[in-house]
Amino acid sequence: LRAELEGIPTYKPGRSAQSAATAAGAAAGGPVAYKLSSNENPYPPLPSVLETVTAAAGSFNRYPDMMCTSLMNELADRFGVPVSHLSTGTGSVGVAQQLIQATSGPGDEVIYAWRSFEAYPIITQISGATSVQVPLTPGEVHDLDAMADAITDRTRLIFVCNPNNPTGTVVRRAELERFLDRVPGDVLVVLDEAYREFIRDAEVPDGVQVYRERPNVCVLRTFSKAYGLAGLRVGFAIAHEPVAAALRKTAVPFGVSQLAQEAAIASLRAEDELLGRVGSLVSERTRVAEGLRVQGWTVPETQANFVWLRLGDRTAEFAGVCEQAGVVIRPFPGEGVRVTIGESEANDIFLKTTESFR
Ligand code: PMP
Repeated sequence: LRAELEGIPTYKPGRSAQSAATAAGAAAGGPVAYKLSSNENPYPPLPSVLETVTAAAGSFNRYPDMMCTSLMNELADRFGVPVSHLSTGTGSVGVAQQLIQATSGPGDEVIYAWRSFEAYPIITQISGATSVQVPLTPGEVHDLDAMADAITDRTRLIFVCNPNNPTGTVVRRAELERFLDRVPGDVLVVLDEAYREFIRDAEVPDGVQVYRERPNVCVLRTFSKAYGLAGLRVGFAIAHEPVAAALRKTAVPFGVSQLAQEAAIASLRAEDELLGRVGSLVSERTRVAEGLRVQGWTVPETQANFVWLRLGDRTAEFAGVCEQAGVVIRPFPGEGVRVTIGESEANDIFLKTTESFR
C-alpha cells in the first residue's frame, strides 16, 4: 500500500436512513423518526421522475451510456455552456476527487477553509497532496484574505464551498472577486455549489457566471440536494476545456448509472416543481433559524438546507437528546451539530428539543 494512505480517516457518514429510523423510532417509542443528518431532500421522488427511473430499470443488465450524452446535452442547454465544458461523475464528491487527482499529487498543496466539507481532507490525502486548512472567521465564514495569503508556488487547487458545509454561510460577490484577483492563473479554484439552489441572498454570485469570466474557475454542482437524487449519485462540473477534458479522462468508467442519468434528465425537466419544493424548504429554514434565535441560540446566517449550532463539549449530549426525541442530527464531536431542514413535523420536534436543552 502507498505510504500516503497511512492514517487517512475513513468517511463517517450520518447514519443510514434505515438505521436512523430504527434508532430514533425505537428511542421515541413510536414509528416516527426523522433523519436530519445528511442534508438530504425530505420530499419523496416526484412521480414523473420515479416513472422514468422505473422504466429505465428494465434494462439494467446493460451498461449505461459511458459519456452521459443525453444528460450532458441537457446540462449544456440548461446552463448555456458547451458540452466540452462539462463532466459528470459519481456524485459531486466523485468529481471533486477527480479534480484533485487531475491536479495535485505529492508535494502539491490544496487549500480550503476549515471547518468545511469533510471529504476535502480525505480526497486530498488520498492523492498524496498536502491539505492547507484555513480557519473560518469567528463569524463562521470563509476567511478569503487568509486563504489568498496561504497560496504558495506549490498550491494547485483551492476549494471555496459556497454555501459552506456545515455552517451554511456564504461568500459574496465583491469578496470573491477580490480573492480571485489574487489567485495565480495556474491555480484552479473550485466553487463547490452543492447547495446553490437554496441561496436567497442576491449578493452571492452564481458560480457559473464567475466561471465564464475566469479560465481558472470551475463549478461543482449536484443532483443530490435540491433535486432530491442523493441515492442515485450524480453530480457534475462546469469547467474550461483542459480541466473538463482532464475530468473526463479521470472518470470511473460507467460511474453514473443509467437510472441516475435518466433521473437527472427527468429532474431538469421537472425543475419548476422541484424548485417549488426548495422554496418551501427555504421558508422552513427561516422558521427554524428564527425560532432558534428567539430561544437565544446563536445561529450563523445560513443559505443552505441546514443550520449549524456550535455546542463545543455539549455536542454529543445534544445529539443524544435529539435522537431520544426522534430526530437524528449530525454531530461533529467537540465542535457542534449540523441539522438538516426537513419536514415541518421534524423541524417542530427539533425546535422543541432545542428549547428544552438550553
Ligand atoms: N459538496 C458539498 C459541500 C457537500 O456538502 C456534499 C454532500 N454532503 C457534496 C459536495 C457531495 O454530494 P454528492 O456527492 O451527493 O453530489
